[in-house]
Amino acid sequence: MVTAPASSETTDRASEGNPRRIVVAQELGYCWGVRRALDIIQDAADPQHPIAPIGDIIHNPQVVTRLRSRGVVGAGSVDEADGRGVQRVAITAHGMGPHLAKEAAAHNLELIDTTCPLVTKVQRLAQKLVRQGYFLVVYGDSYHPEVRGVLGWAATSKSVAAKHIEDLPWNAKRGEKGEGKIAPPRKVAVVSQTTKNIDELMKFANALQAMVVPEGGEFRLCNTICEPTSERQNALKRLVHDDQVDLILAIGGRKSSNTARLAEVGNQMGVSSHHIEGIQDIADDWLQDVTVIGLTAGASTPDDVIQEVVDYLVAKGYAPPEGGIRPVDPDYVPAY
Ligand code: SF4
Repeated sequence: MVTAPASSETTDRASEGNPRRIVVAQELGYCWGVRRALDIIQDAADPQHPIAPIGDIIHNPQVVTRLRSRGVVGAGSVDEADGRGVQRVAITAHGMGPHLAKEAAAHNLELIDTTCPLVTKVQRLAQKLVRQGYFLVVYGDSYHPEVRGVLGWAATSKSVAAKHIEDLPWNAKRGEKGEGKIAPPRKVAVVSQTTKNIDELMKFANALQAMVVPEGGEFRLCNTICEPTSERQNALKRLVHDDQVDLILAIGGRKSSNTARLAEVGNQMGVSSHHIEGIQDIADDWLQDVTVIGLTAGASTPDDVIQEVVDYLVAKGYAPPEGGIRPVDPDYVPAY
């Protein structure tokens, strides 16, 4: 890769005391729940007694690779882990349905549970809403382990995962009659995957509410987007607003939902934004005519991966962020 040439406009701005520089969101990278899950796994890790998380322990390939050397190697299922001779399986921070504990017990395997307490809260809330007679809509990606886990705890056919109104089993408002019209039941509640974008959740909820409330329908929205996710999105909005950012790089594993949402927030604010896994994904032409680069990172992105991106951009002629990549408060615990 070659250094992006400074445009005449860029040079002008630099000479006005506005040099090319990197700014970072005040909240970025590892969230409390991921740090907690990694602490549990790292404390338990022992190459002589491997652990098989069911799925990626976190959605970051660099961390998954590092843990492999300590005997933590993911498996697709409890069956697969048992077949490999592993005696310990783990639930990831995203959580899992109740079937997993039963399967582990049936195979006589030790179970290490790293489910984020903020995900557990959604699982319990889903159960409560079902008990109260609501049809449960989980706003999120139907394939995501967290969403599948919440639906597993809800344990009812009166539930669905949906990210768009078109994903729902209904296409009409309550009271609308006509061929092919399917209206929602009287009571519908929504919980959200913890890492979703609040603006998108509100659009979805408003549209669904309009379908449910006619004719005495009851609609309930439970905003279960977690505090660290909201903070990362809000910190990015403040960064765009306060620092006149020209480009946003959101750093995180390709499977990281919350990193994808950060890039989405940046694009919605009119700033060209890219979800990158690391420096290998940065295209030279993105940096053309760019004076201020805003950096953010998903909840499962370690500091050294963020620092690597900073070092790469510094080598391209950008001033590093004042005060380093982030203020870290190891004692911070979100409300739940
Ligand atoms: S993103 Fe939120 S719910 Fe997910 S692990 Fe982090 S704190 Fe927990």
